[in-house]
Amino acid sequence: MDGKDATSRPLRGRFAPSPTGDLHLGNARTALLAWLSVRARGGAFVLRMEDLDKPRERPGAAERILRSLRWLGLDWDEGPDVGGPFGPYVQSERAALYDEAVRRLLDAGLAFECWCSRKEVTAAASAPHLGEEGPRYPGTCRVPDPLRAAERRAQGRMPAIRFRVPPGPVAFEDGICGPQRIDVSEQVGDFVVRRADGVAAYQLAVVLDDAAMQITEVLRGDDLLSSTPRQILLYEALGLPVPRFCHVPLVVGPDGERLAKRHGASTLFELMERGEDPRAVCGALAELSGLARPGERLTPRDLVPRWDPERILRTPARLQPRWLAQSA
Ligand code: GLU
Repeated sequence: MDGKDATSRPLRGRFAPSPTGDLHLGNARTALLAWLSVRARGGAFVLRMEDLDKPRERPGAAERILRSLRWLGLDWDEGPDVGGPFGPYVQSERAALYDEAVRRLLDAGLAFECWCSRKEVTAAASAPHLGEEGPRYPGTCRVPDPLRAAERRAQGRMPAIRFRVPPGPVAFEDGICGPQRIDVSEQVGDFVVRRADGVAAYQLAVVLDDAAMQITEVLRGDDLLSSTPRQILLYEALGLPVPRFCHVPLVVGPDGERLAKRHGASTLFELMERGEDPRAVCGALAELSGLARPGERLTPRDLVPRWDPERILRTPARLQPRWLAQSA
C-alpha cells in the first residue's frame, strides 16, 4: 500500500482510449478498474489519448471521452487536458519518439523494411494462419530484395517497417488471467511497427508511451491479451522495463455476446446527457466487477476501500437490460 510496485518504481497506471467514438460501458468499466487499482495503493493515474488511427477518429470524441470520465468521478494526475512531466499525452503529437525508436530498431537489425501489400501477405501465408488478426507474416522481406524495393520505390510506394520476431514462446504472468504463453513467431510473425504511411503502429506507440510515462501497471480489456507478448518483445528489444499486465474480461450484452452497437447500450456520454445519476452508473459498473450490490449508488472514491483484484469476476461481465437504450 505504499504506492510502489515490486521493482520499487512508483506505482503508475493509465487509461488510453482511442477517440474513435464515445466510451461504451465496457470501456468505462475498464477505466474505473484501472483507476481503482492504482488509487487503492496510492499510485498515480495517467490519461493518454491514442489518436494514431486518423481515418477512424470522430471529431469531438476525445473531448467527450474526457468529459464523461470526469462526470463518472474519475480523475487523472496527468493527461491531455491537465499536462504533466511526460507529455504531450496525445499520441499524434509524439511522432518524433516513435521515429527515433524505429531508427534504433532498424540500425540494430531488429526491424526491416517490408514492401509487401496486404494482398501479397495474404496470398503467401498458409491457410491455417488466417485468424482474426489477419494472416501470419510469411517473412517475405526478412531478406532484402533490393531490386523489388527499387521497383516499388519508383512507383512512389513506401515500405512498412516490421519487427523481426525471434522464435519461441513469450511467457508472462498476467495479474488477472494468470500465466500466459504465446508464440508470436508462430501466430503473428514479424509484425508492423510503422505503417507504410509513416505512422507508428499501435504495438510500438503503446510500448514507447507506457515506458516514457513510467507506467508500471497496464490494466486493460482482455481483447488486448494477445497483443501483450508482441509488446513484451518490443520492451525487451528496446531495453525498457516491462510493466505488470492485468487484463480484465470484457462486458457482454444480456445475450452473452460482446457488447456491440446492436445491443443498443447507451454510451457513457449519452447517460450523462440524459441526466442519469453518475453514482448509479458507477454502481452498475462496480456490480459488474463484484464490487457492489445491485442498485447501489457509489462514487469511484467510495469503491477504493472495497478494491480487491480477486473479486473481478474472471468471466465476461453481463450488462443488465436497464442500461440498454429504450429503443433497443
Ligand atoms: N487505445 C487502445 C484502445 O482504445 C487501448 C490501448 C491499451 O490500453 O493498451 O483499444
